[in-house]
Amino acid sequence: MTGAARDITPRADISSPRGDRRNGKVVGPGGTIGILGGGQLGRMTALAARHMGYRIATLDPTEDAPAAQVADYRAVAQLDDVAAARTLAAAADVVTYEFENVAAAVARVLEDATVVRPSSRVLAVAQDRVREKETFRALGLPVAPFRPVASWDDLVAAAAAIGYPCVLKTATGGYDGKGQHWLHGPGDLQSAWTWAQAVPPGAGGSGGGGRRRFILEARVPFVRELSVIVARNPQGATAAYPVAENVHRRQILHLSIVPARVPAAVAEAAQALAVGLAEGLGAVGVLGVELFLTADHRLYVNEFAPRPHNSGHYTIEACVTSQFQQHVRAVCGLPLGSTALLRPAAMINLLGQHMSAAMGAVERLLAIDGLNLHVYGKADARPGRKMGHVTIVGDSVAEVLERAQQAWELVRAPEEPPAVADP
Ligand code: AMP
Repeated sequence: MTGAARDITPRADISSPRGDRRNGKVVGPGGTIGILGGGQLGRMTALAARHMGYRIATLDPTEDAPAAQVADYRAVAQLDDVAAARTLAAAADVVTYEFENVAAAVARVLEDATVVRPSSRVLAVAQDRVREKETFRALGLPVAPFRPVASWDDLVAAAAAIGYPCVLKTATGGYDGKGQHWLHGPGDLQSAWTWAQAVPPGAGGSGGGGRRRFILEARVPFVRELSVIVARNPQGATAAYPVAENVHRRQILHLSIVPARVPAAVAEAAQALAVGLAEGLGAVGVLGVELFLTADHRLYVNEFAPRPHNSGHYTIEACVTSQFQQHVRAVCGLPLGSTALLRPAAMINLLGQHMSAAMGAVERLLAIDGLNLHVYGKADARPGRKMGHVTIVGDSVAEVLERAQQAWELVRAPEEPPAVADP
């Protein structure tokens, strides 16, 4: 599966009834791609698209947003501003998004005017953890036991059924570990419910009507967190990238190692799950699929993002086709590119707390063999905010990890662990 785009029987895009008649739309170089959201994922997508001769229109509330800085046309408005989104759609041949908390309702409205890829239905699945996990289960993908929770009685019943430890998550709006609360025994039920009641309805707990909704999940005793970037184009071809092994710190992606240090059969199984998801959803575009691996080599799908993914940044330097170019190819209805890994890679996120050290040591950083620096152009380096990343390519995982350690020593904040990777 790795190495070449795989053709399968074309199928209708189940995700959008209206999309059917536009299913095969091809947007060639010279066309305009509209991007909802102006963050770093949009910026890197825009840069890849520009290489191929596309024009870019962005919609973001911040005038100087990372993607807006490299766009041909900028709409400055809130992402739920339907009039502004329509203006973007009118300027674009195809619309995509780089942030999955774009209102699915806005994407749906735009589908009347233009082609939106991935479709609003795929977006709506990704935005709601209950719907997402139910979809995984319906597609036969392995998931941790879970129950939807909307009331105290639901919580008590769900915890009794699932057991401890378990994690209560907001159904909507959470990312980077925001919006989750762990329970270790029945004694935690009350505090979990107090936490749930304090979740602001607009900030993620709302199911639309102001009623907070949650999901309770069993803890997966994982030994590794993995991810697979997978692409599907409107013709139904799919292509999975090599599996990344991910290390999170404080719930934020810290390090990706590629290829993941897992047996080949596990890597192939992880890719097959990601392809199964892309096909089952009928999604068009790139998806980032996050998985847990247990000691006995079981895989569980945790979540997916209907867009390029932080753990796929390594593909820019380490693969024949970057995830960003692949997303452009897919949403434009073009053949997918090879996902072959050229060299092993390690990617370290540069967060707000790393930027002053990184910029102060930029000459020493760039002197590390095989290191590539990406800076997203954000003004405000708040701790935890994704400001850039470095990708180190080399001849082996051991070599890239050794160089990643050198880079980490230059950028890490004093309170952070000195080792770039846990043993
Ligand atoms: P999420 O918001 O679902 O991406 O979760 C953020 C992080 O919390 C994951 O990367 C895991 O490290 C951890 N986590 C989430 N769900 C589970 C689970 N069911 N079992 C174990 N760890 C989890």
